Amino acid sequence: MACGHRKLRPGQTITLGHEFVGTVVQAGARVTLCGVGTRVGVAPNIGCGRCELCGRGLMNMCPEYSAFGIDRDGSHAEYVAIPAAALAQGSVIPLAPHVSAVDASLAEPLSCVVNGLRAARLDPGDTVLVYGAGPMGLLNLMLALLSSAARVWVVDRNEARLEQARQLGAAGVLNPDAGSVQEWIGRLTRGRGVDVAITAAPVREIQTEAVQLLAPFGRLCLFAGLPNDAAPVELHTNAIHYRNLCVTGMTGGSPQDYRTALKLIESGRLDVRRIVSHVFPLEEVGRAYATAMSGTGLKVVMTAETPRHP
Ligand SMILES: [Zn+2]
Repeated sequence: MACGHRKLRPGQTITLGHEFVGTVVQAGARVTLCGVGTRVGVAPNIGCGRCELCGRGLMNMCPEYSAFGIDRDGSHAEYVAIPAAALAQGSVIPLAPHVSAVDASLAEPLSCVVNGLRAARLDPGDTVLVYGAGPMGLLNLMLALLSSAARVWVVDRNEARLEQARQLGAAGVLNPDAGSVQEWIGRLTRGRGVDVAITAAPVREIQTEAVQLLAPFGRLCLFAGLPNDAAPVELHTNAIHYRNLCVTGMTGGSPQDYRTALKLIESGRLDVRRIVSHVFPLEEVGRAYATAMSGTGLKVVMTAETPRHP
């Protein structure tokens, strides 16, 4: 599969799979956290363990981080080898017995949303605009509502996904082919703008537009990156200057964000299952990929039978 991730060397092939949970089938002699049979979630970014950012627990920001499914073999396989460093960094977390593996597998994407809404400094009562109603946009919608946002509005070109956003609590949705986002937000906020905008789609134009839609002291979180070869984005810096705006970004989530995401899933207050559209057995990996790449569903999850000791 073609992949443009900066960590991947040209010509390198690896097993994909970055978001996963599993059952321990074999453990090293010094592993005390999780014996054979323990179900665990794994925060997938492993830091060097020595740098300033690792010292702050921000393994996702480590300049030398290594990650499952990105530069080391990932989880689209029956077994995954977890290095000792992941355990030492607190990245391997036993799951609560009542949580399903499918639900827990969403902890990784949710950890990115935890990180993103923190970067956006979401406050109770804020109004929020989310660009993109794919799984990440919808998770942003769900967590913003759970975090006491007053209203969350969602923009996407896919009508089925907009309907999903509506069902998940969006105060309003818009297909930009049907009307101007700027006019729509202007009407909804009586010209004030939104407190927080989140771009959860890899589209240059929405980054330019979102700055224009922010209220004074508003925050824009560039949640989705752009393709490496994307042209530079036009930014209206006077809007930032005169309205005291903050433009921020983030990538991934730390092991601590992963724990927070797991706690939210375990609490039952954030029903991640609603963004899982398909569950395939691992043997149907081809169908699973085709479905995921077709853009017709939301999150596509693969499951393997709990294996016996190899
Ligand atoms: Zn490091």
